[in-house]
Amino acid sequence: MTQPPRFAIAIDGPAASGKSTLAREIAKRLGLVMVNSGAMYRAVTWKVLQQKIDPNDSAAVIDLLGRIQIHCGEVGMTSTCTIDGVDPADELRSEAINANVSAISAIPEVRDLLVNLQRNYLDHTSIIMEGRDIGSVVFPDTPFKIYVDANETVRAARRHNIGEVDPISKRDAADSERLHAPLMVAEGAVLLDTSDHTIESAVNAAIDILNQQGLPDLGELPPPP
Ligand code: C5P
Repeated sequence: MTQPPRFAIAIDGPAASGKSTLAREIAKRLGLVMVNSGAMYRAVTWKVLQQKIDPNDSAAVIDLLGRIQIHCGEVGMTSTCTIDGVDPADELRSEAINANVSAISAIPEVRDLLVNLQRNYLDHTSIIMEGRDIGSVVFPDTPFKIYVDANETVRAARRHNIGEVDPISKRDAADSERLHAPLMVAEGAVLLDTSDHTIESAVNAAIDILNQQGLPDLGELPPPP
């Protein structure tokens, strides 16, 4: 029996735009593996801070990259990464990581390493991947691209409501202004503003966009009860 061709759905957007929630819910509905690329940059940042390396000392960060083993895979339908055998998932949303991840993700050597790991997923499964450069750099040829946004007030409130200290404006500025793979609306991406959407209506709108972009019929699963 021939396997249907594998594909990647790219979901990009600024911090707290709703892209993780959206990607997770679309993944559930369509039965895809959801890959959180931000978690990979956060995991490297976690290791840098754990090793007491200055995140702005790119030479020291690059040196660290040569000494660690990063493995990414999935547990169930969600991506996971380990560094030197440790999965730091529970520690990735700390104030220190929020404050330093943009410095780490601006280092081209960090990006090269992680982009390779991100592309590897497609070797064995279809995926929905969320991040900043998925439609522009990681999978520029995929026809399935959505740029998720929401107004600043809504985004700040989302972080506040979960009690997270996160300098989102600062991160967005750094992520958009960096030289390598900045946050941008990728060519061919359709904009989805989630400010006035419920989760369900945003998921429905995203799936409409993906269908218009020619998403193959996956025998859509019913939403969970
Ligand atoms: O998506 P999340 O907010 O967890 O991403 C954390 C940080 O990782 C971003 O602020 C950005 O600096 C970096 N990132 C990136 N490229 C991606 C995903 C995340 O540079 N594809």
